[in-house]
Amino acid sequence: MPTALITGIAGQDGSYLAELLLSKGYRVLGIDRFSSMVTYEHLKHFQDEITLLEGNLLDQGSLVAVMEQYSPDEVYNFAALSFPAGSWSQPVVTGDITALGVTRLLEALRLVCPEARFYQASSSEMYGNVREVPQTENTPFYPRNPYGAAKVYGHWITVTYREEYDMFACSGILYNHESPRRGMEYVTRKITHGAARIKLGLADELRLGNLDARRDWGYAGDYARAIWLMLQQDQADDYVVCTGETHSVRQFCDAAFSHVGLDYQEYVVQDPRFYRPAEANLLVGDPTRAKEVLGWEPSVGFEELVQKMVDADLQYLGKEIL
Ligand code: GDP
Repeated sequence: MPTALITGIAGQDGSYLAELLLSKGYRVLGIDRFSSMVTYEHLKHFQDEITLLEGNLLDQGSLVAVMEQYSPDEVYNFAALSFPAGSWSQPVVTGDITALGVTRLLEALRLVCPEARFYQASSSEMYGNVREVPQTENTPFYPRNPYGAAKVYGHWITVTYREEYDMFACSGILYNHESPRRGMEYVTRKITHGAARIKLGLADELRLGNLDARRDWGYAGDYARAIWLMLQQDQADDYVVCTGETHSVRQFCDAAFSHVGLDYQEYVVQDPRFYRPAEANLLVGDPTRAKEVLGWEPSVGFEELVQKMVDADLQYLGKEIL
């Protein structure tokens, strides 16, 4: 039975990947911040099947200890301060965890189990002020916030360890990927939760920022599959993972509200408080390499994704009301 270690296991991606690996017969170990602020909500339906460990990307010794004790075959790094807009308020901690944390993890692997396969969660935010459209694995990076800058470092240190130490280390450059487990601070979940609240009579408006911003939104469950596939190849490489299609925040609102029989224009209010000082622009990826090499295809389209999220929020809020 192969052993996989997932950092940031309590988050959206960590939890989807954990489920996928359990279904494939892996022994799954997880580390997370596990402070009282972090909920176990996403893990609770399979918490008995995984092993949660003490460990922190700020603490090299804690990572070495985990590697020595469990010698994992695959290590997936999702731990990060993961909200791009929020990274302006904690730029130094963002760098320490999201950038240097990757080196601490790679060092622990190099010293203890250099044969382990490593996945680094990189991000389309690295392209920020985009140099070309669509972006590929070879497009230069130009981040526009501390999170993006930290992720660029994480990407390059992964490539550097692969090339210098011949480690099996991959960087997956993932575009936005959403699900009912997405945090409320992201616009997609804010919209689906907002539409569900309005439908249930719990709110009468939804305040948002720039409705014309566009993103390539895929389904997190599909992206977990792409991530696993990267570590099953003969060669380690970097991959852009996206749908290749963009939609605006406005279209997302339209799809979410229509699904519950409402017109978003009657409820959505634009509020300057939610505008961004510097937006990533025209983030559109080219998933050709992921499709050709990994044989990966997304299975959930835009409308279905929005509907899945709204339905989950209706169910979740419905339970709260009862
Ligand atoms: P990001 O791609 O990681 O920044 O994902 P977000 O879900 O936070 O934001 C996606 C886009 O939605 C950005 O271009 C935001 O400017 C836009 N947006 C518009 N209104 C809102 C809002 O109320 N909250 C957030 N988070 N984003 C908003």
